[in-house]
Amino acid sequence: MQQASPTPFWLDVRPRPAPAAPLDGDVAADLAIVGGGFTGLWAAVLAKRERPDREIVLLEAETAGWGASGRNGGFVDASLTHGLVNGAGRFPRELDALEAAGRANLDDLKRDLAALEIDAAWQEPGLLSVATQPHELADLDEEVALLRRYGWDAETLDRDAVRAEVASPTYLGAVLQRTGVGLVDPGALALGLRRAALALGVRIYERSPVLTATSAALSTPGGSVRADRVVLATGAYKPLTRAIRRLVAPVYDYVLVTEPLSAEQRGALGWRHGQGIADRGNQFHYYRLTPDGGVLFGGYDAIYHFGNRVSPALERRAASFQLLYDHLTATFPALQGIGITHAWGGPIDTCSRFCVTFGRALGGRAVYAVGYTGLGVAASRFGARTALDLLDGAETERTRLKLARSRPLPFPPEPARWAVIQATRLALARADAHGGRRGPWLRLLDRLGLGFDT
Ligand SMILES: Cc1cc2nc3c(=O)[nH]c(=O)nc-3n(C[C@H](O)[C@H](O)[C@H](O)COP(=O)(O)OP(=O)(O)OC[C@H]3O[C@@H](n4cnc5c(N)ncnc54)[C@H](O)[C@@H]3O)c2cc1C
Repeated sequence: MQQASPTPFWLDVRPRPAPAAPLDGDVAADLAIVGGGFTGLWAAVLAKRERPDREIVLLEAETAGWGASGRNGGFVDASLTHGLVNGAGRFPRELDALEAAGRANLDDLKRDLAALEIDAAWQEPGLLSVATQPHELADLDEEVALLRRYGWDAETLDRDAVRAEVASPTYLGAVLQRTGVGLVDPGALALGLRRAALALGVRIYERSPVLTATSAALSTPGGSVRADRVVLATGAYKPLTRAIRRLVAPVYDYVLVTEPLSAEQRGALGWRHGQGIADRGNQFHYYRLTPDGGVLFGGYDAIYHFGNRVSPALERRAASFQLLYDHLTATFPALQGIGITHAWGGPIDTCSRFCVTFGRALGGRAVYAVGYTGLGVAASRFGARTALDLLDGAETERTRLKLARSRPLPFPPEPARWAVIQATRLALARADAHGGRRGPWLRLLDRLGLGFDT
């Protein structure tokens, strides 16, 4: 593991486009976007396509796709609410509308990939949500019924049926969801959106961190942007407004990628249909095959650093990498001793309701879209579209949603924030170890509508 590259697998591609020049001087624009992840890039593409005469500037601190968008698992889910179950709990009255919006967003995303000629290794092999503990079997049928009620193709698999799909001695049963989910190469998606934005005439400045944002201007080390409207798409990174700091906690999640499997190893795993897989604990893993035939295995640890700290130094964590390796080889004993080519981490923009949240900032000139909590690959396109609607003051089926108008409960300020998150992580681990029973701390948070997830 020592030799594994710290560069996210998806970004370790050649040739990479040369970075765009940093902002140099003072410029004006109709719309400025801060952040070149999926949210910012979709906002740029959608806004420019809608009104080509609009002058649009995108400022990215590093290079487009460098943040969570280029370092995730590439699991695509139509859900805008971090899954149907979370949506049913938090937005029961508008779940029909949210599911319809999620379905339309996924269809539009696929249409856009074709129209923009973005080859991002899109696949729809289905998702296996596997139970590895007896108590996790209890709600498989209920989840399948909920998925079917919303028109998704899903079925419950028993122990033998799931092991016939993928041969792991840890599997006891699963939900197999065949529609509304997919897999993508997120690095290729980010670079494709960047290319499309440039081709449409968006001015992208990379290595241009916005250091201060006021109602008058966005300032970078090399210049400033004055814009009528601003989208803040900064994910889990240092917030430019107090509102985002209150609502979002950056939580580090880690990922390994193995060398390509030998024919013998692949044969031992089965996995002929190449489904994405996630297990059902509070602390869960997600894993999939990579386009070159390795296994991407991530999740479980969710590390919060005091004071919302984010830093490249936190993207490597030996203890988390070792734990993931141990869990990978417990899941697939045939992979014992396999080499790891890439090991990295990235911050997830966790909020207490687990799905995107919007608000106004910078004296009303800006709208932020943050808080996807680990399920933003597809939802970020909806986040971008809705942020643009809100900025334009447009009444749409999206802006009417409670999801767009309400905000999650904030996390407390430090030092309570750190203490609350640590206590919750421990309580979630305890629940996993004790048959899923939620202790008094988790029950209190449930009553308050507060949660912690990745
Ligand atoms: C390890 C990991 C695994 C994940 N797995 C999945 C998954 O499988 N499926 C899924 O749906 N979701 C997953 N997610 C979540 C998903 O990646 C995100 O929800 C999504 O990419 C969010 O995109 P974004 O554009 O909002 O944020 P980001 O991609 O983080 O983009 C924010 C950008 O803003 C830039 N920025 C920040 N501050 C400034 C500033 N002041 N000035 C200029 N630029 C700035 C950053 O450099 C960054 O590029 C995962 C996340 C992580 C970290």
